[in-house]
Formats: sequence, C-alpha cells, structure tokens
Amino acid sequence: MQKKNSVKRIFLILGDQLSESHPFLEMKLSSESDLLLMIESLPRADWLPYHPQKLMYVFACMRRFAIEMKKKKLPTLFEYVEFSPHTFTEVVNSFGAAEVHVVEPSEPRALDWLKADLKSKCVVHPNVFFLADDSMLPAKPPYLMETFYRAMRTKHGILMEKGKPLGGQWNFDEDNRRPPLSAWDKQPPADFLEKDWCDKVDLDIYAQVETRLREHLPSDRFGAFQRPNLPTHLKSARVFLREFITKRLDQFGPYEDAMVAGSVGLFHSGLSPLMNLQVLSPQEILQAAEAAPAEVPLASREGFIRQILGWREFLRLIYRRHRADYQTANFFGFGEKLPPLYWGHPTRMNCLSSVVKHVEQHAYSHHITRLMVLGNFALLAHVNPHEVNHWFWAVYLDAYEWVVTPNVLGMSQFADGGVFATKPYVSGANYINKMSLFCKSCAFDPKKTLESDGCPFNALYWDFIATTKQNQAHRPSFARRMGMMWSVWEKKSEDEKLAIRKKAAELRTRASAGEL
Ligand code: FAD
Ligand code: SF4
Repeated sequence: MQKKNSVKRIFLILGDQLSESHPFLEMKLSSESDLLLMIESLPRADWLPYHPQKLMYVFACMRRFAIEMKKKKLPTLFEYVEFSPHTFTEVVNSFGAAEVHVVEPSEPRALDWLKADLKSKCVVHPNVFFLADDSMLPAKPPYLMETFYRAMRTKHGILMEKGKPLGGQWNFDEDNRRPPLSAWDKQPPADFLEKDWCDKVDLDIYAQVETRLREHLPSDRFGAFQRPNLPTHLKSARVFLREFITKRLDQFGPYEDAMVAGSVGLFHSGLSPLMNLQVLSPQEILQAAEAAPAEVPLASREGFIRQILGWREFLRLIYRRHRADYQTANFFGFGEKLPPLYWGHPTRMNCLSSVVKHVEQHAYSHHITRLMVLGNFALLAHVNPHEVNHWFWAVYLDAYEWVVTPNVLGMSQFADGGVFATKPYVSGANYINKMSLFCKSCAFDPKKTLESDGCPFNALYWDFIATTKQNQAHRPSFARRMGMMWSVWEKKSEDEKLAIRKKAAELRTRASAGEL
C-alpha cells in the first residue's frame, strides 16, 4: 500500500454509490491535500459466499464508473485500489489522512464498521440516493405501504392530476394478476437477458476481474462463473431502461405475478442491480415510466411505479427503524437448516429446481419466484429465517442489507412477527399451478396431498396453517387474514389432520437430507 503523507482528507466513494451526481463529485476539493478514493476490498468480498457474478458485477461497475469519471474533470486527485487484500479501513489508514469523508452508506452495517474503525476521523455526509426520509413513516406501527405510497405519489407529484390520482384510482392491482399463456412453454417471451449489454471496455474489465476472482474464490462456489450481460454504466443503462419502457412495460402489469421456466425475467425490468448500485437513479426511472408512450396502459405504469416509489422506499425506512429487531427476529422460532436444493442439489420439485437454476445461471429471479416459490418453501419447511436471509443476500445480484433483510425476514419469512405485513405469504400448490407453467412438467401432482406423488407444498401448507392457528394468541391479525383457512383445516377429519402433520414432518426431514 502506498503512503501519501500529503493527503489530509480522503473522500471515499463506496461500491454501491456509483452515481454521476455523487455529492463528492460536485464539491470544491483541494487538489493538493484531498483524495477521492475507491477500493475493491477482498475481505469485504469474502463476507458471504457471494455468487461469482455478483462480485464480478460490482467490481466491473466500479471500474467502469472510475473510467467514466476520469474522462470528466475530477475535483481532485483520484486513486482506485484494485483487489486489495486489506479491509477498507486498513487501506484508508495507509494514507495517514486526518479525516475520512463518506456519504452515509445505504448498508447500515458498513457505517458501523467505518465508525468503529475510524472513530472521530470519520465524517459522514447525508445519503442522497433515496426519495423518502424517516419522517415519512408514522411514529409507530402499524405501517401501511398503501398509505405511504399515496403520500409519496402526492409529495412527488407522480401520476397525479389536480391533487388526485391519475385515472381516478391509486391502485390497479386487480388488473395485474394474469396467469402465463400456455404457449409460453414452447415459445417464452424474450426478457431483459436476451441481449448482451457489454461493450469492448466492459469485456476487457470482465476479463481481468474474472481471472483474479477465479484465483481467489473456491472452485465449488455456487453460481455460474460467467460475466453478467447487464449494463455497467450510465450510458448503456439508459438504453436498457428505454428498451424496458418501450418493449416490456406494457405487459409488466398484467403478467407481474406470472412465472415461466423459459423466461427468467419475463416482463420485469431487471433494473434493481443498476438502481441498488446507484448507476441509475430511481428518479430517472420513475420519470421514464411516467412519461411512457401512450400505448402503455396506466395499470402497467402505476404497477411499476408502485414497486419503486412504494415498496423499495417503504422497506428501506422500515429497515432503518427496526434494524436492531431484525438481527434476532424469528417469530415462529424455526430452526431447520436450508435444504441443499437451494445450493443446486437436484430436486424433483420442478418449480424449485427451475427457479434455483435461474439464480444459479443469472444471480437473478423475479419477485414472485422469490416470494411464492423460494421464500414460500423455506417458510413451510421451517428453515431458520436468518439462513434464508443469508442465502438471498449471497446469491442475488441486487441483494444489499437494507433491501434484502426486510424483504426476506419481513415480507417473506414473517420472522418480524408482522412489522408491516398482516400475514405470512404462504400457499399450497394451487397458487403456483395457477400462476406458472412449472406444474405441467413436474414429478408431483399439484392437486394431491397425501398420495406419494402429492405435491410437498400441500401437506406443508396445511401443516403451516395449523401452526399459525396455534400462534393466534401472539398475533391477533392472523384471525382476520387466515380465519377462512383455519375453518377449512378444522373441517378436516382428525385422521386426515394427523396424516398431514405426519407427512409434513417427513417432508421437512427429506428436504434437509436433499431427498425431495
Ligand atoms: P421489477 O419487477 O422490474 O420491479 C421494479 C423495481 O421495483 C425493482 O427493480 C426494485 O427496485 C423495486 N421493487 C419491487 N419490489 C420491491 C421490494 N419488495 N423491495 C424493494 N424493491 C422492490 N429487491 C432487491 O432490490 N434486492 C434484494 O435483495 C431483494 N430481495 C428480495 C427477497 C425476497 C424474498 C423477496 C420476496 C423480494 C426481494 N426483493 C429484493 C424485491 C424484488 O423481488 C426485487 O426488487 C425485484 O425482483 C428485482 O427485479 P426487477 O428489477 O426485474 O424488478
Ligand atoms: Fe412445484 Fe408442486 Fe407444482 Fe411440482 S407440483 S411444480 S413441486 S408446486
């Protein structure tokens, strides 16, 4: 590491702060004593068994950002540290600067680490990468996403007309629930992965990063060792966004919940990796969606805008407020290990094997596959929610603490006991059969439960319903949201109930042994 004793102040740009309008690029800095610094830290990259594509992507976007920045006039000296074997603070301290400036990291634990190591040297600037601030959440629960979202629409004037929602409605969810067309089994729609977005500069960067990572990572690491073909910088990201708005946004709404093995992204945007690294700002994406061509139905525009202006911002604030509670949250007290199928071990359950394959190949799968296939199964199989969280965090290209944890522990596993959700997102095979084409070519039958070819989701689902009934004293809202399923359960004979509970216990054992 190089000593630069003339450096008095370091301005650190983190790997998920790759914004063209990063505050440090607009500050008046001294070219004598201030240094802009970017670091690729291997100890940081080893924190979880990250999918190789995730590491390749972050390093490629960082390097491309540095190249693009250097083409512009930089406010001061700039140094980029490649593949450092040291931690951020070790690298930073090697410059001997008196102050280390950083824009508040989106990942709260990164701020904890920096503050703990750098102490009074650490100067924190406000995080400017999101649209909502803490005051947008009510002082205490219940937190309702719909109320938050309407306030955000009004505050930012998005899809509003004379103070009222455009089209006279805030929410078009009812129009957005179509199952996939059966023709998509043979001819799936082209998704955002169909094109390669890398140019010559990206390819050179990836070639270097890939070689170094192959040397560094264990050979049995989960995930296809190949470069992602997504944009890495603002210019190509803008073209990628334009393609989504003109080619897929019109179908996004109706088929938002549909799942198809042959189309990983279907009509989803694939924008989360770019947005979470700040390559593209949420503001720019929202403006593009709002100004989409007239033939894009309002239901699709609204549905898409709700995800970004609503869910993304809402969950970030929830996590900021409740981070301490999330560290140990485990409402149901589940403790099973994550079944090996999540790490690519073969399974006869077609929905799970197809979606894990999406993740293995692309470090991506879309929202409903995360929630209603992977998350649903983990919850029904009583997996320790923190293991589930670490898996999602490690293997998805877009996973960062502030967004993955509330989604997994809150929305998907209900480990927080319902900080913002009123009931767990669980289903039997019925939902998957209706909203996907997976069941058509599965070894199990979605309509059967106790038979040997009965879909495992069914016995596990009914067993879970029985569990929530036992938990009703802890969570009164269950009665309102799940009461109907409880009465269906109660109508089953005692023999059937016993058989279902026995089969569910066996299924959990077989899932952890990799025998499903
Ligand atoms: P699109 O369907 O095109 O949606 C557009 C944008 O809306 C996304 O890019 C994303 O920024 C935003 N969005 C939609 N839903 C959510 C949500 N629930 N929370 C936050 N933003 C949302 N999203 C992440 O960005 N990182 C994660 O690590 C992550 N983990 C998840 C884990 C689970 C178990 C679940 C159920 C959801 C998770 N999500 C996560 C939310 C959502 O699934 C992804 O944002 C989305 O699938 C990203 O793909 P896309 O860009 O094609 O999304
Ligand atoms: Fe999944 Fe069950 Fe359908 Fe098979 S039958 S694809 S396991 S839901």
